[in-house]
Order: sequence, then C-alpha cells, then structure tokens
Amino acid sequence: MLLKDRVAIITGGAQGLGKVYSLAFAKEGAKVVIADINAEGATQTAREIQDSSGEARSIKVDITDASETAKMADYAVKEFGGIDILVNNAALYYGISYQKFDEIPEEEWDRMMRINVKGVWLSVKAVSPQMKKQGKGKIINVSSGTTLKGNPGLLHYVASKGAIIGMTRSLAREMGEYGINVNCIAPGFTLTEASYLLAGGEAKTSVLASRALKRHEMPEDVIGVVIFLSSNLSDFLTGQTIAVNGGDSFL
Ligand code: NAD
Repeated sequence: MLLKDRVAIITGGAQGLGKVYSLAFAKEGAKVVIADINAEGATQTAREIQDSSGEARSIKVDITDASETAKMADYAVKEFGGIDILVNNAALYYGISYQKFDEIPEEEWDRMMRINVKGVWLSVKAVSPQMKKQGKGKIINVSSGTTLKGNPGLLHYVASKGAIIGMTRSLAREMGEYGINVNCIAPGFTLTEASYLLAGGEAKTSVLASRALKRHEMPEDVIGVVIFLSSNLSDFLTGQTIAVNGGDSFL
C-alpha cells in the first residue's frame, strides 16, 4: 500500500474525480478527509469508504472562506492526528457553459477566480502550519488540459487553471525548505458528470481526434498519477505539472 496511514484531505470529494481519488486513496491505506461544499455528497463518499473497511471522515467546507478551510485542517488533525496530503481538486466546473470571452458575466468571472484560485490558496494556507510542523507534506493541485490547449469558450476557467500551474511553481519554491512537495496534474477531457454536462456527446468524439491514445479518458486513468504524487515515490519531484491526457497535448 503506497499511502498506508497517510492522512489526506481531498477537496471536492463529493462527486466526480474527487470521489474517485477518495475511494482509491482509501484502498491504498490512506485516512481520507473528504471536504466539499456539498455536505451530503461528502458524507456519502465517506460512508462508501467506511463500508469497505476504509478510514474516512467528511466535512462541509466552502474553500473560498478562510475560517472554513482553517476548520478543515483542524478537523483532519483532530480526527486523524496530522495532515500528510492535500489534493486541491474542488473547483467551479459543474454547470459552467461555453461562452465567448466578451460575453462571460463579470460575476461569473469573479466566482471562477474565487473558487478555483483563491480557494486553492486558502486551502494551502490552512494546511501549511501542520505540514511545516511535521517537516513533510504533499500538495497536489489540479489544472486542466483546456489551459494547455487554449480551448476557446472557457476563458475564465482556462485562466483559473493556468494560475494553478504558476502557483504550483511558486509554492514549491516557498515550501521546499520545509520538506513539502507541491505538484500539479492537468487531466484531459475526462468523462465525469460535469464534463458530460459541459460538452455533450459531439465534443466527446472530437476529443478523440487530437488524442494520441484513441479512447475516452475515464476518472480511473488519473488515479495513478495522483497516488504517485502523494507517495514517497515522488519525493524529489516538486513544482511540476503532469498532463494526464492520453497524449492530447504535451508539456
Ligand atoms: P465536479 O464539478 O464534478 O466536482 C467538483 C467538486 O468540487 C464538487 O463536488 C463540488 O461540490 C466541489 N466544490 C465546488 N465548489 C466548492 C467550494 N467552494 N468549496 C468546496 N467544494 C467545492 O468536477 P470533476 O469533473 O470531478 O473535476 C474535478 C477537478 O478536476 C476540477 O478541479 C476540474 O476543474 C478538474 N478537471 C476536470 C476535467 C474533466 O474533464 N472532468 C478535466 C481537467 C480538469
């Protein structure tokens, strides 16, 4: 087991990719805290883990609120005695739609930045005192293939996920002296409920044309890299972004 007894906070673990990471982490022996604004979904994920003899807790957290991210970190320490891993997976993705850059409502632009950029900053700030105290930690941020490709129609999302790559590099430099690794994954178009809602059937087929590996990307395809970045196998890797997309774009 690659993550035996590691305490992992996974934001946005109520559904989609975050839920798949949570279940996979528990199978690898991690004690998982599922933090999501969707309390019911987070509880459900934790229950599924507990039902298969894994260790999990859930907590309702809005990552845009510093007092809530602080509570998230305190809760992990109280329940499991520390914080070894933070997966910054929560984002505004479900329910967004393609819009021309000059038609995006200002309010939606601001909400995107608040959740996808500020939320990551606040989550890192919340766990960093404990990770520094422990003298080690793994932070995994989530960017997107849309940023690598420059997809049209999602400027605010693409910008927010571009910020994550830069934040990963700067955070890696600021946190390296404390033994904390900060890396990033950029999944390609992955079949989750949110991506179905955004793109529908036609876009799914068009993705295959530009991808080296001619099949759909499933949430399970991303798990291996997230576990690798959370485990001792990646101890000398920091500040990097890994594109997990079947060869749709290259870094
Ligand atoms: P999703 O929208 O289904 O899941 C996001 C989760 O984040 C939800 O459970 C939601 O409740 C939670 N969340 C949203 N706002 C929150 C807040 N303020 N505080 C706490 N939790 C909040 O998306 P998904 O398809 O599972 O994608 C997960 C991650 O992967 C996202 O960061 C997304 O941008 C990224 N990603 C997805 C794809 C894809 O094709 N599915 C591709 C590249 C990157």
